[in-house]
Amino acid sequence: MLRSLRAQLSLSILLVVMITVLLLSLLANHSVNRQFEEYVADEEKTQSQNIVNYLSSRYDGPKGGWEYDFLYTVGMYSLYDGYILKIYDQGGHVLWDAENHDTTLCNRIMEEISARMARSRKRGGFDTHTFDLTQEGQKVGSVSIKYYGPFFYSEREVEFLQNLNSLLVAIGAFAFVFSIAVGWLLARRLARPIVKTAQIAKQISKGNYNIRFEGETKTKELKDLVLTVNHLAEALFEQEKLRKQLTADVAHELRTPLAAVGSHLEAMIDGLWEITPQRLISCHEEIIRLGKLVADLECLARVEGENQRLAKTPVDLWELARSASEVLAAEWKKKGLSLSVGGESAVVLADRDKMVQVITNLLSNAMKFTPEGGNIEVSVKDGKDKGILSVTDDGIGIPEEELGLIFERFYRTDKSRNRKTGGAGIGLAIVKSIVEAHGGTVGAENRGGKGSRFTVTLPK
Ligand code: ADP
Repeated sequence: MLRSLRAQLSLSILLVVMITVLLLSLLANHSVNRQFEEYVADEEKTQSQNIVNYLSSRYDGPKGGWEYDFLYTVGMYSLYDGYILKIYDQGGHVLWDAENHDTTLCNRIMEEISARMARSRKRGGFDTHTFDLTQEGQKVGSVSIKYYGPFFYSEREVEFLQNLNSLLVAIGAFAFVFSIAVGWLLARRLARPIVKTAQIAKQISKGNYNIRFEGETKTKELKDLVLTVNHLAEALFEQEKLRKQLTADVAHELRTPLAAVGSHLEAMIDGLWEITPQRLISCHEEIIRLGKLVADLECLARVEGENQRLAKTPVDLWELARSASEVLAAEWKKKGLSLSVGGESAVVLADRDKMVQVITNLLSNAMKFTPEGGNIEVSVKDGKDKGILSVTDDGIGIPEEELGLIFERFYRTDKSRNRKTGGAGIGLAIVKSIVEAHGGTVGAENRGGKGSRFTVTLPK
């Protein structure tokens, strides 16, 4: 059965508080009771010792020994306190016997004490303890004291214990109410952002990416959760925008060549145009261009999809540039270009295959947009915490105002648009995507009419 977070939290808090309070009460009750019992038992011993001392001190040998009135007073006082005395003289004759004196009263007091102790659930019973009465080392009599052992409570002591127990019960009840209130409030505070975030996530899953969690929470993990969900919404929103943009761009890019090929073929089918090899070749070229565009798009989709999964290893940018220039050697030599790789070795942590792609794209562009006999220079620099690779050419250059745009998909400068050499405008988008996935930056500069320079900076 699913239970709400708030209910579970409230219940847990309540349970913890209740167990704590219960344990504490039991412990307090137990230890107080034990201490109190010890104290009362001690008091009993002291009390009987006091009786013995008191009696001993009042023996007056010269005046004929024991004074009956005194014995009566002590005996009756003790009786009311729960001590039943029987006093003997030296010879063992009974001088005063509480039970004999007032049997009914004695029995009543004994019953009272027994009943009180039974109510307190304490075991025990009446025992008789006999003590010698002495004066200056001489035995002058003896007394046997009968009392409830090992201890008994007086009326007031029972009252004290009852008060203590009621106090503990009251504290327990207060803790119960308090923990319900605090638990409920705490659970509400914790659960609210979670519930809200769940609602927002639900909205996001329905495609409503504009929704954000606006409330405040002071819990670190909850704040993280809320921020993550907000980011998720933002990222999905961006993705959605990009997807729409891409679809529109692709449609736009495909429409023109498709329309051209379509109308050319139609004209030839309808007999408006004569079918010549030249016309067929032109249609074929368009189709090849379309094929290349699709391949480029595939490459971009793959790179953007894979950027989360970079197989990073230490790679030397200079070495990569060297081998890329060798791979492309046949091409640039055929075009009568010169290509040199200079600088120093710079090792960065990067995905080797993707870096090869970056360098290859930059070199291909330089080769495409540099006329015959031109120069291309690759230079690698080893910075403190970054590796820098630049590709410089003395080709057609890029107009200043278009520098920021060339990294966008399908963007081509007007200069290159007219040329047959230009691709679909995806190569630099791929470069940017890869470099940014590595936490690096890529930029282009205009060399004042003497070509352009592309610089890639990668963190080590
Ligand atoms: P393309 O497939 O057209 O080469 P890119 O994304 O690689 O696409 O480049 C986008 C545009 O940037 C190119 O069409 C061109 O206009 C411009 N460009 C890129 N590299 C250079 C360069 N080395 N010199 C001049 N223009 C360049």
